[in-house]
Amino acid sequence: MLRLLLLIPTTTYRTADFMEAAEKLGVEIVVASDRPNVLEGEFPDNLLTLDFADPGKSACAVAELALRNPIHAVVPVDDLTTVVGAAVAQAIGLRANPVGAVATTRNKHATREALGRAGVASPPYRLFTLADDPADAARGVGYPCVLKPTILAASRGVIRANDEAEFVAAFRRIAAILRTPEVAALGEGADQILVEGFIRGREVALEGLLVDGALRTLALFDKPDPLDGPFFEETIYVTPSRLPADVQAAIRRVTGAAAAALGLRDGPVHAELRVDLDQPGAGPWMIEIAARSIGGLCSRTLRFGTGMSLEEVILRHALGIEIDGLERERQPAGVMMIPIPRGGVFEAVRGLEAAEGVPGIEAVTITAHPGQALVPLPEGSRYLGFVFARAETPEAVEAALREAHRRLEFVIAA
Ligand code: ADP
Repeated sequence: MLRLLLLIPTTTYRTADFMEAAEKLGVEIVVASDRPNVLEGEFPDNLLTLDFADPGKSACAVAELALRNPIHAVVPVDDLTTVVGAAVAQAIGLRANPVGAVATTRNKHATREALGRAGVASPPYRLFTLADDPADAARGVGYPCVLKPTILAASRGVIRANDEAEFVAAFRRIAAILRTPEVAALGEGADQILVEGFIRGREVALEGLLVDGALRTLALFDKPDPLDGPFFEETIYVTPSRLPADVQAAIRRVTGAAAAALGLRDGPVHAELRVDLDQPGAGPWMIEIAARSIGGLCSRTLRFGTGMSLEEVILRHALGIEIDGLERERQPAGVMMIPIPRGGVFEAVRGLEAAEGVPGIEAVTITAHPGQALVPLPEGSRYLGFVFARAETPEAVEAALREAHRRLEFVIAA
């Protein structure tokens, strides 16, 4: 029987979807987490604790286990485990991305350098650290610009500045995030602030699978809400894209070039790009590319072939099990990540039934739990939940998501 190792950080939204896909495939599951499980002693071959921050040590621990009981694929289920996943796979002789390539994707400055060397369209940038004087730094950059930590994700700490005063305020706000013990503990890169030129235009997300270095596009999502800052809250994703076919082809090309520039060859990629339809021939610009699939619960919008989930596609690829078709199901689909409107304590949601009753709405999943402290962007990085829709056209999907969101009311105590 094939044995699959899932690397599951405790903060992920995706455990259930990956477990379900693994069960459907009938493979034996080995789960590695960053917190000890009470059942570990009873199931030493199927449950283990790894220090995800130490890829070398984790690789040794898994190599030892694999000697006793072979492992046929290693799948990191989220951003936080991509580097350790590559290290573990390499240590036990499985096909995987080079560890260095994956590590590059985890640092926004290293990513920009690699893309720049390969000539992939990407914003101009400058790197600063917490030791720099914000006022001096503000004088050395162009405007508008975007300031961001190099090692965080989910738009956390990403802030637009239109002038020197906004730059200094944004720099200080990001510095405060970087100085929190939880972020400072992340080590290398935790004291860096990257400043990029602000790229105008529309944003898209490409979901892809690399097979022997070749990019297969699984889905292209439009993000119909303008993302102009000062903070960059992800909200609506709708697929298929409504952009012209030649622009979509350029997006695929730039994503393939970016993956190659980073040295990525295998497994899922998720890329965010910007296109400016008023500047034909320029761009598309790569904003970010990660060696993982789409985050949150957003993958639930996607179905492939005869009903495969994205997680099943990823597991089949990793295990070398045949994939009949990577064609996305035809029907337009979309998701809304429900943003946190203000900080406080989440108490309740009202209007769930009314929201679910909107034609085209497939599900409204609230992931925040009563009593949970809510932190909006730019300091926070979670969502209240997700709304899923399917309809005859992308426009109808978008309208259904907006109407469902309008019907929801969140009770948040101060
Ligand atoms: P994260 O990995 O934390 O999501 P990103 O670098 O992807 O950080 O930035 C988050 C969002 O901020 C992007 O999806 C985009 O909307 C916006 N953004 C980031 N950099 C730029 C830029 N240089 N120009 C325009 N928008 C940007």
